[in-house]
Amino acid sequence: MKAVVKYAHGRGNVELRDVPKPSPGPDEVMIEVKAAGICGSDLHIFDGDIKLPIRPPVIIGHEFSGIIAEVGSSVTKWQPGDRVTSETSAYVCGECLQCRTGNYNVCAEKRLIGYWFDGAFAKYCVVPSRLVHKLPDNVSFLSGALCEPLACCVNGVIEKTRIKPGDLVVITGPGPIGLLSLQIAKAQGASVVLCGLSRDRKRLELGKNLGADLTINVDEEDPLRIISKMTDNAGSDVCIDCSGSPNAIRMGLQLVRRGGQYTQIGLTGRPFDLDFDLIAYKELIVRGSLGQRWTSWRIALKMLSEGLVKSEPLISDVLPLSKWETGFQKARSKEGIKIILRPE
Ligand SMILES: [Zn+2]
Ligand SMILES: [Zn+2]
Repeated sequence: MKAVVKYAHGRGNVELRDVPKPSPGPDEVMIEVKAAGICGSDLHIFDGDIKLPIRPPVIIGHEFSGIIAEVGSSVTKWQPGDRVTSETSAYVCGECLQCRTGNYNVCAEKRLIGYWFDGAFAKYCVVPSRLVHKLPDNVSFLSGALCEPLACCVNGVIEKTRIKPGDLVVITGPGPIGLLSLQIAKAQGASVVLCGLSRDRKRLELGKNLGADLTINVDEEDPLRIISKMTDNAGSDVCIDCSGSPNAIRMGLQLVRRGGQYTQIGLTGRPFDLDFDLIAYKELIVRGSLGQRWTSWRIALKMLSEGLVKSEPLISDVLPLSKWETGFQKARSKEGIKIILRPE
């Protein structure tokens, strides 16, 4: 089968290769991939600056949906033909404090599909059966391919942050994670202000269509002034950064009210200068969010199925797997929003 393979560490070293069709071990299932999304971290894997462990040669891709093609001898829960999507934490130690408390997304030994184990930019992908989630009948394969990023947002916006109806939530960064987080915050009854730059104009417009109460182009308008005016100088109840931009993070800590919540989902990739005292002066509740766990997937699938979150409008391009390079370029130039590859 054809597969997009990262064949060595370092920059580049990715190509479309012919690889043998896999087969599932006793506790595994083999999924025929119907749709696989290109994630920002796939670009970092390409660039060789990803901070999570990778093991080349490895098939990349970790956001996907498909149909079960074959099940291992001990698998009883799944059958060929089942429409599914899959978590990515193919290996966690199972014994550390994090694993034993259900927080296996932060297990130090975690190894992911598409990084360490073969992933989804291929016709077939084999995963441990415990990772598999049923795709609700009314959720398309395209929508289903965004379950993984959506589950990351559920972890950040629902499981790590406490949003109450009527809260004012500022989200910085209108990429796929911001646009999904926005909808989750709306579903919890918040008013949402989505912030981006001039180059994000299209994304901000989509954010508006997906329910943002207000969008701010921070190149043209001063969000501090706008949020102050909206809140009688108090600041927003919550700020969630989905951009990983130092400027947005510095701004977020300014925008959030005293005693408010600040949640970091975006990654800057490098240390930067920040007025950390704001956390003490304003008694902020600051939390980080990384990846997702079983509970996040459960909520994500429910939200998709009930139409509380729409993921298909984020899909700007659907390309055959052979056009993976075009897809990566579009993702890098931010010309597209979410780009989906379809194995042939
Ligand atoms: Zn991802
Ligand atoms: Zn562990």
